[in-house]
Amino acid sequence: MLHLYNTLTRKKEAFKPLKGKTVRLYTCGPTVYNYAHVGNLRSYFFADTLKRVLIHFGYRVKHVMNITDVGHLTSDADSGDDKMLLGAQRERKTVWQIAEFYTDAFKDNIRDLNIIAPNIWCKATDHIWLQIELIERLEKKGHTYRAGGNVYFDTSTWKGYGKLKWSDKQTGKSVARVDKDVHKRHEHDFVLWFTKSKFQDQDMKWESPWGAGYPGWHIECSAMSTHYLGQPFDIHTGGIDHIAVHHTNEIAQSEAAAGKPMALFWMHGEFLVIDSTRMGKSEGNFITLQSFAERGYDPLAYRFFLLQTHYRQQLNFTWQSMDAAQNGYRSLRENVREYVLRATRAQPKKVSIEPLITRTSKKIDAALADDLGAPQALAALFNFISQVNRRTARLGRGDYRIVCAFIKKIDAVFGLSLTRRDDRIPAQVSLLADKREHARKEKRWAVADALRDEIARAGYRVDDMPDGPRIVRHDLRISRISSLPTAVLNTVPSRYSLFRSSSAP
Ligand code: AMP
Ligand code: ZN
Repeated sequence: MLHLYNTLTRKKEAFKPLKGKTVRLYTCGPTVYNYAHVGNLRSYFFADTLKRVLIHFGYRVKHVMNITDVGHLTSDADSGDDKMLLGAQRERKTVWQIAEFYTDAFKDNIRDLNIIAPNIWCKATDHIWLQIELIERLEKKGHTYRAGGNVYFDTSTWKGYGKLKWSDKQTGKSVARVDKDVHKRHEHDFVLWFTKSKFQDQDMKWESPWGAGYPGWHIECSAMSTHYLGQPFDIHTGGIDHIAVHHTNEIAQSEAAAGKPMALFWMHGEFLVIDSTRMGKSEGNFITLQSFAERGYDPLAYRFFLLQTHYRQQLNFTWQSMDAAQNGYRSLRENVREYVLRATRAQPKKVSIEPLITRTSKKIDAALADDLGAPQALAALFNFISQVNRRTARLGRGDYRIVCAFIKKIDAVFGLSLTRRDDRIPAQVSLLADKREHARKEKRWAVADALRDEIARAGYRVDDMPDGPRIVRHDLRISRISSLPTAVLNTVPSRYSLFRSSSAP
């Protein structure tokens, strides 16, 4: 039975969807004013692991993710600058152009990290009417007041306010540090609708019963999640910084309006940190997935890196651990590639590999069922590979076929593309190659050469074939490792060593 940690009840609980075999899942999406950093992506990777585990255990998942393209502010508490406007000023574009560009960039990141796209993407700006309707409902029920041109949620009118927040340690930014809004009647009241913008030439404005303006940040998730998933739905996810303010306020709005729970499970992913500081745009220590490619890292090596730490544990990023992850990932892929070859080329002899598969499968299922224990499941896979390698002399191609089918099934949870034959080309590299081809056609050779160098720095090569350019990975030397990556090593006995291709028959 699958158990998941529920922030709402502060314990691991047995999970069962409310209706049949379909899990209705909502994930708070990105604010599209800049590139996502790899910390943000950890959050989406966590939601993806949850989704893959649910699918592994036989559920269907209906997944909705919002795109925050209305400029909510740089603090959680209705103050600070409009993030979208800052982006537009920085790049001399309109807020609409900024939103479109960074939405596409985010979707590229998602694809490069093998994160399964949600069934429904919903943009806040496409659903303003839903948000207005919800505010009207709250107004009718007496949960709002108007002050200083804005409409506020009155937290004193809903007794469940704050039930999600239980420890200041878990809350990310403290609300107390943020500028006081003199119009608020109570400390935690928050804006549902702004009509008084302190920003000139506000581009994004909509008519509403309270005057032309724009919605507060939290209302979009309340309005869109229940619109697409019903109320209550099964699971709501986000990063831990959303517990204290954003999710607390979502719950207040949705539950005060409908008089029933918003979601049954609230799950939160811990931060990616650098030297104990959260990775963040305002912290100025952020790294993008694009910069990984420039340094020659495979995006899936980052996925492998993330898999080694439980989603509720803080994860410290260092380039050294990223190197270890890249080596670990390559080594894993090499082993599996070898099995794929042996599945056709090895001798037909056969020993029984099934007992090992059954044992491994049980271990992996038990790990995943215990609140998504991906690191233990990954360790069990490494253990399995070591065991298979120790039997090399005795295994025939039939065994390898079974081994490959098993790895493929398990990799549906890890999302590491272990059995895929061709390496995927990251979107960034394809884009550079397109630009290079364009430059070549126009005989701008210096530009074409510079782009080729940039592609090389990202770890790829363009071969100009008679039928057009072909992008291939540089044949990077795979460093042989004889032990498991550190984090994996912590969870399995160290006597297992990985397969060495020199011992291949
Ligand atoms: P934002 O675009 O700021 O709303 O953030 C998008 C998602 O990334 C949210 O779920 C945040 O909780 C999450 N997030 C932000 N910083 C980090 C970090 N350093 N590590 C993990 N998740 C993060
Ligand atoms: Zn949200």
